[in-house]
Amino acid sequence: MTLVSELHPVVLKAGTDEASRTLQDYAEFWKIPYRMNLLEPKGSVLFTSDRSIAAESAIHGPVILTPVGLEEAEKTASYAGAAVTSEKKLVRLPVRKGITVSLRTNVYEYSGQRIEPLLVSDGATIMSRVLGSNVHLVGLDLVTEYARLIHEGYEQIPSRRFSLVAKLPFSYQSIPSFIRNRSFRTEKGLSDLREENLGPVECLRAVFLASLVRIAGPIPRIGFWRRGKAYALSVTHDVETQDGLENGAKILMETEATLKIRSTWNIPSDRYPLTSPVLTILARNGEVGAHDTRHDGRLIFLSGEEKKRRLASCRARLERLVDQRIRGFRAPLLQHNKDLAEALYNAGFEFDSSCPSWEVLSPTSLRSHGVGTIFPFYMRNILEIPVSLPQDHQLIRVAGQKPSAAVDLLLKLATWIRGVGGACILLIHPDYEFAEAENKKEYERLLESFRSDPECDIMTLGEMGEWWKTRKEARIETNDNKVSIISSEHSHMSSELQAELVTGYSGDGFSVVNL
Ligand SMILES: [Zn+2]
Repeated sequence: MTLVSELHPVVLKAGTDEASRTLQDYAEFWKIPYRMNLLEPKGSVLFTSDRSIAAESAIHGPVILTPVGLEEAEKTASYAGAAVTSEKKLVRLPVRKGITVSLRTNVYEYSGQRIEPLLVSDGATIMSRVLGSNVHLVGLDLVTEYARLIHEGYEQIPSRRFSLVAKLPFSYQSIPSFIRNRSFRTEKGLSDLREENLGPVECLRAVFLASLVRIAGPIPRIGFWRRGKAYALSVTHDVETQDGLENGAKILMETEATLKIRSTWNIPSDRYPLTSPVLTILARNGEVGAHDTRHDGRLIFLSGEEKKRRLASCRARLERLVDQRIRGFRAPLLQHNKDLAEALYNAGFEFDSSCPSWEVLSPTSLRSHGVGTIFPFYMRNILEIPVSLPQDHQLIRVAGQKPSAAVDLLLKLATWIRGVGGACILLIHPDYEFAEAENKKEYERLLESFRSDPECDIMTLGEMGEWWKTRKEARIETNDNKVSIISSEHSHMSSELQAELVTGYSGDGFSVVNL
């Protein structure tokens, strides 16, 4: 328990259930203390998406309002005797010294005698004060944009071409070649691997917290990773062929064993012959996850019931072979949508890692695609751990990079993820270049960079899932300015939760101290 002076309670209140859930998602992401829909306790700050709630509550204390849609922004402006214009801009916010998060979105610029910009970043007004009132206006639509990025980003629509090919018998082998032959502008594709594509959701989350800290003052939260760690890494492998399982895996595992890194091996249950001894070695050096049954690209086209049956049989077969519980799933071709998430839950899985933060070219939708976050999140009861770094196949086989250039790019992107505090999820296939003896040094260079960083929390996907659940179930309690973490006694990881205090927000991002 730590004493902190001057904490102002945060209250969230929205006009609709959807907006309510979104505001709650923001608060739950940061793990700040908050109350929903309550009458405001003394000295509290209200965060709302609803104009009339803002007007009522402003009589009692400070209010932060994020209007939903341009029409609401216009009504809000006229209520404040101001004007508003909407313009698509690249919003860029510092989160710490030298690290920014970005999003291309419509920015509402309020203007008028009563409008005073309070938080301006890179030419965009993030928040303004309405003079003579307690109301503060957020310049971004935090509710609509969150739904657009996370929910629409999660619904992957297969292209017609993919649908046709995937439904033909024995068609899977033809998929990689028609993607390889597709006109693919390498330069542009790779340069699109930028923060506004990999993590636009992080920008929305930063706006939420920065606005609150500016108005409410210091806010306690729970750190993202285990005590002393700034970001996380999971090394994952999808084993596509028997050769990868029997030969490639050994080469990758040698490097990992030297660096004491345990990785996650995702195995298709019915694509090539599997034996218990081979899988047990993988489980002993890390963990085994499921990678569909036949790996034919058709999973996404099955009905909910068919998906569930197929996924359950995949899990059951692997569990028999490994003699361990299989908790996680990775879909072939990184296919994902809400139906699949639901089927995974019904088939007994706890987490999924099939959604790229950003993919230059999705083999399923045949366009660039991603969920826009580098942190785990819940979707229909399943924890989704996004594949935050581009997979080896895309960099080397699709974009034609040399393994050394691919490692350079992966490390550059990992530096950004580290700065934001996210989860680096590597996807390296034992069937491709990194498992060739001549590229062993490059694979070592890649992993060594994480291993030598004392602030990197290295864990398997299963451990990351367990950690994120532990953090999710914990909460911060403040009583008379005393801060403590309330957590489930069931998790052995609870003692690793770190309470932090966000003391301010400036041009160098958030100022944070450990409590
Ligand atoms: Zn695969």
